[in-house]
Amino acid sequence: MEHENDLEPLPCDKDSLKRSIREALVHIVGKDPRNATSRDWLQAVAYAARERIIEQRMYTKRLFNQEQVKRVYYLSMEYLIGRMLVNHLMNLGFYDACCQALEEMGVSLHEIIDLEPDAALGNGGLGRLAACILDSLSTQCLPGYGYGIRYEFGMFHQHIEHGEQVEHPDNWLRYGNPWEFPRPEKIYPVHFYGYVVEHRDHGVVRHHWEDGEEVIAMAYDLPVPGYGNKNVNNLRLWAAKATRDFDLDYFNEGDYIRAVQEKIESETISMVLYPNDATAVGRELRLKQEYFFVSASLQDILARHIKLGYPITDLSDKVAIQLNDTHPAIAVAELMRLLVDQHLVPWDRAWEVTREVFAYTNHTLMPEALETWPVALMERVLPRHMQIIFDINFHFLNEVRHNFPGDNNIVRRLSIIDEDHGRQVRMAHLAVVGSHKVNGVAALHTELLKRNLFRDFHRLWPDRFVSITNGITPRVWLNQANPELAQRITRQIGADWVMDLGRLKQLEDCLTDAEFLKDFRDIKRRNKERLAAEIRSRLGLSIQPEALLDVQIKRIHEYKRQLLNVLHIITLYNRIRDGHAEGQAPRVSLFAGKAAPSYVRAKQIIHLINDVADVVNNDPVVHNRQQVVFFPNYEVSSAALIIPAADLSEQISTAGTEASGTGNMKLALNGAITIGTLDGANIEIRQAVGEENIFIFGLNADEVDRLRAEGYRPGDYYESNPELRRALDMIRDGFFSPDDPGRYRDLVHHLLTEDTFMVLADYASYIQAQDRVDALYQDPQAWSRMALLNTARMGYFSIDRTVQEYADKVWGVQPEGWN
Ligand SMILES: *Cc1c(COP(=O)(O)O)cnc(C)c1O
Repeated sequence: MEHENDLEPLPCDKDSLKRSIREALVHIVGKDPRNATSRDWLQAVAYAARERIIEQRMYTKRLFNQEQVKRVYYLSMEYLIGRMLVNHLMNLGFYDACCQALEEMGVSLHEIIDLEPDAALGNGGLGRLAACILDSLSTQCLPGYGYGIRYEFGMFHQHIEHGEQVEHPDNWLRYGNPWEFPRPEKIYPVHFYGYVVEHRDHGVVRHHWEDGEEVIAMAYDLPVPGYGNKNVNNLRLWAAKATRDFDLDYFNEGDYIRAVQEKIESETISMVLYPNDATAVGRELRLKQEYFFVSASLQDILARHIKLGYPITDLSDKVAIQLNDTHPAIAVAELMRLLVDQHLVPWDRAWEVTREVFAYTNHTLMPEALETWPVALMERVLPRHMQIIFDINFHFLNEVRHNFPGDNNIVRRLSIIDEDHGRQVRMAHLAVVGSHKVNGVAALHTELLKRNLFRDFHRLWPDRFVSITNGITPRVWLNQANPELAQRITRQIGADWVMDLGRLKQLEDCLTDAEFLKDFRDIKRRNKERLAAEIRSRLGLSIQPEALLDVQIKRIHEYKRQLLNVLHIITLYNRIRDGHAEGQAPRVSLFAGKAAPSYVRAKQIIHLINDVADVVNNDPVVHNRQQVVFFPNYEVSSAALIIPAADLSEQISTAGTEASGTGNMKLALNGAITIGTLDGANIEIRQAVGEENIFIFGLNADEVDRLRAEGYRPGDYYESNPELRRALDMIRDGFFSPDDPGRYRDLVHHLLTEDTFMVLADYASYIQAQDRVDALYQDPQAWSRMALLNTARMGYFSIDRTVQEYADKVWGVQPEGWN
C-alpha cells in the first residue's frame, strides 16, 4: 500500500536510538547527561521509544480509514497493563539495540526497568484480560480500540504491617506518564442529574434532558504496539475535567474557595479505582464513573463514524462494541439516547442497531457480584436513561409474554427491573437484552450461565449464548517474563511460537532430550534464585531454591480458598513436628494477593497466613524443611517475577465459582504443574495436558450443588478427620496468635458451621493430592517431564485464539494488514 511520504520513519538502529535518548534526556526531561538519575534515563528511553510508536500509530490509522474497516471497541472499567517499557521495546523489535545504546552511555537497561511504576488500573483477572486482548488485537492487525478511565489513583499499594494488610494510595502519575498523549481537544460533555421535558416535533414526541451538572471528559491516548508488525492500536482513557475552572458567580461574590471546590468535585469522577473484586459496589460515584466513560466513549465512536462519512443507521457495519462485564452496561441505554434523542433515529431502528452493535462478556456467577442500581438513584442521576430502560423493558417483556403466554413468573424473573428487592435495575439483564451475543469465559462457566443465571434468557434466545475461553498473551507471560526459557525454546523450535503458541507442541519431542530437560530444569532453578534474591531484599527471608515452590497468587477471596492451602500447610507442619515427615520434600508455600479494603474476612485470611508464616519459619524443629512467604503488593510486575519460578500452581476454588481464571494458564505455560479443582478453565487445562499431568481433587460443580441441596454439615468433616480437627483447633485456640488468642475464633466458627465455600468438604481429597505432588517432586526427572508437557500443551490458551473467536463469532471483523 502506498502512503504519502509526509511521515518520515525514524531509524531504529543503535546509533539513532542513542541520539534520540540523549536528545530526549536534554530537551524533554531537561537533565544534563552527567548528573541524570536512573529515573531520568527511564523517561528518556520511553520518549525515544514513543516517538517511533506514534509514527506507526499514524500509519495504522490512515490505513484503517482508507480501507474503511469495521472497528471493534472494547469498553472496560479496568486495564491491568503493568509496566510498558520492555513490552514496547520488544514488540517494536529494538530491545537489543536499545540495550546496547544505553550501555554505551553507561546505563544498564535492566537497572532502570524496575523503576517504572505498574499501570495498575484494575483489580485482577478481568482487568488483566482486557490488557491481554489489546495486545492481541494489535498483534493480529485487528482494528481494535480500548476505552476506559484514566484513574489518577489505580489499585492501592498493599503493605504488610504486623501481619496485616494496610492500603496506601497508588500515585502512579507522580513522575508523569511518558506513554500517554493528552488530547485536550478531544473533549465531550457528560451530563448528570436534572430532569427530562417532552415536546412534540411534527407529531413525534421528543425528549430533552435539562439542567443538572455537566462534566467534561478529556481523552488521553496510550498507543498499543503489536508484536512483530507495524500495527499500533490505541487505548483511550478518559479523565474528568470541570466544565469551568472557576464558578464565576462564587468568584465574583468573593467565595474563592467554593469556586475552586466545585472544580475539584467534578474531577473526583476519575480520581480512584474501586478496589473491589467479585462484589458489586453500590455507591453513586461508581455509577457516575460507569456512565462518564461510557458516554464519552460512545460520543467519540459516533463522532468518528460520522466524520468518516458513514450514515448513522449503518453503525453496525462499521462498529462492534464489547462490554467487559456489566460495568459499562449503561451503554445500551446511552446509545439509544444518542440515536433517538440526538440523531433522531426512530426507536425501532435504533434498537436494531443497538443490538447489532453490542456484545456482552459475563465474568461471574456469584450473586453478590451482580450489579444492580436502585431505580430511585438511577432516576436522580440519569433521569433520561431510566425512562429509556423502562421503554426497553416494556418492549422486551411484550416479547416475553408473546413467547410464554400466561407465564407471569417468567416475566417477573426476566424483567430488567427487579421488583422484589425494592426496585432495582438489573444491569446484567440490560446487557443481555441489548446485545446480540453473550459469552461466558470458559466452557463450564458458559454451561452454568445457561443452566442457572441466564436460564430463562437461554430458553428465549438460545443462539445468543456462546462460550469463549479466556487466554493470556505469550508476549508478556513467556517472552518477557521468562526470557531465558523463551530463548531456549526459540533455539529449539524457532521463534514462531510467540505469535502462534500452538507451535510449543513441538517441545514434546524434547521429552527424551536429556540436554533440553536439563536446561529446562536449570532455568527454573535460576528463576527461583532470582525470586529468592528479591524476597531476601524485601522481606529479609532466605528461601531454599531447591525446595518445591508452591504458589497461590491471586486476589484474596473466600471462594478462591486460600484457607484450604493454609490448612494443608498446618497439616505438613504438624507432621514435621510429630516426626512423621522424614520422606517429605522441602516446600516453600508462597502467597500473594490483595483483599478488598472492606472485606474483613479476606483481610483476616492475610493476617492468618502471616501469623502461620511467623510460627513455621521460626520453629527450629522445622529447620527450613517448610517455609511460608506472603509476598506483598501483588501486581503484574510481581506476577512476572513469581510465575517463572513456580513449581506448583494452586487453583483450588470451590467448583462452580471461578469463571475461568487466567493465573492458571500463565503458571502452566511457565512449567508449573497445577493442583486444582474441576473449576473454570482448569477443566480445559486438564483436557489439554492430559489427566495424568495435573493434580485434580475435590468435588465437581454438580457434587457441590448436590451436597448443598442435601444440607452441608461441615462439622461432620471436623469430627471425623483428626488432622483437620487438629489444624482447626490450633487456629481457633490461638496457637498462631499467642498475642491475641481469640483472633481467629470467629473465622473457625464460620468454617465449622457454614463454610460457604466447602473448604472442609474438600480437605481430605486436597491433602491426598498434595501427597501425590510430594511424591512426584522427589523424582526430578519425572517432575520436569510433566512440567515440560504442561508448557508444550498450552497453545490453546493463547489470547490470540480467544480474540480470533471473538472476531469470528461475535464482532465480524478481519485483520487489516501490514504483513
Ligand atoms: C493474571 C492475574 C490475575 C488473575 O489471576 P487468577 O489466578 O486468574 O485469579 C490477577 N492479578 C494479576 C496481577 C494477574 O497478573
